[in-house]
Amino acid sequence: MTLPTEQYSCIHRVCVCVQSCHATKPGMLNVHLVPHTHDDVGWLKTVDQYFYGDRNDIQHAGVQYILDSVVDQLWKNPDRRFIYVETAFFYHWWKSQSSSMQQTVKQLVNEGRLEFVNGGWCMSDEAATHYSAVIDQMTIGLRFLNETFGACGRPRVAWHIDPFGHAREHASMFAEMGFDGFFFGRLDYQDWARRMRNKEQELLWRASDSLTPPMADLFTGMQSFFLHPFMLMTSGLSNRTVSHYFLTACPR
Ligand SMILES: [Zn+2]
Repeated sequence: MTLPTEQYSCIHRVCVCVQSCHATKPGMLNVHLVPHTHDDVGWLKTVDQYFYGDRNDIQHAGVQYILDSVVDQLWKNPDRRFIYVETAFFYHWWKSQSSSMQQTVKQLVNEGRLEFVNGGWCMSDEAATHYSAVIDQMTIGLRFLNETFGACGRPRVAWHIDPFGHAREHASMFAEMGFDGFFFGRLDYQDWARRMRNKEQELLWRASDSLTPPMADLFTGMQSFFLHPFMLMTSGLSNRTVSHYFLTACPR
């Protein structure tokens, strides 16, 4: 462990890093908006094309520039926060940085200004993947974060905002990996409508019948679709539906 002692405390080998949430106002609804990545590790383009920003005629995406600009902007203003998700791209970017830039990023992580969630090599599909591949890709990503950043780089939340459907076994594996919570996007529109009506977008998912509770219990939150204003506006939904979405997604 190389962190200055004031930035973490350890009890029984469990280390807690800086809590970087902004102060809240009692008696008010406090909303924290934290930008995050959703960089597909290969979808319409190859992984390298996504990273370097090649073939932007297929899809406008260059992940290296996201990381360059995010780190620059975080460094300029200590009030800013950012969540990074896909370790495959982060690893690629990290390897090409100078040691001084790597130190800068370590400081941002230690201070809770740059946080990793999920932390797998990618955000795996939940329908077609075998569980052994899921464990392997999560292991590769999480091991890199642990070896590079230690306790403060550890993702505490599993984050699956784009797989098409969600498997109970996947949630069970996340619980066993030690995540505090799980946030996902995309669920059936009728299920979503019912949950909106009944205010059931957050739940404690009992993800296994065979594991003794609370071993596979996982706090879970969801969105019908990952919250991206541009995608909503170009989704073919009417303006009325889109404005309804925002009003209900952000209740007053
Ligand atoms: Zn995606």
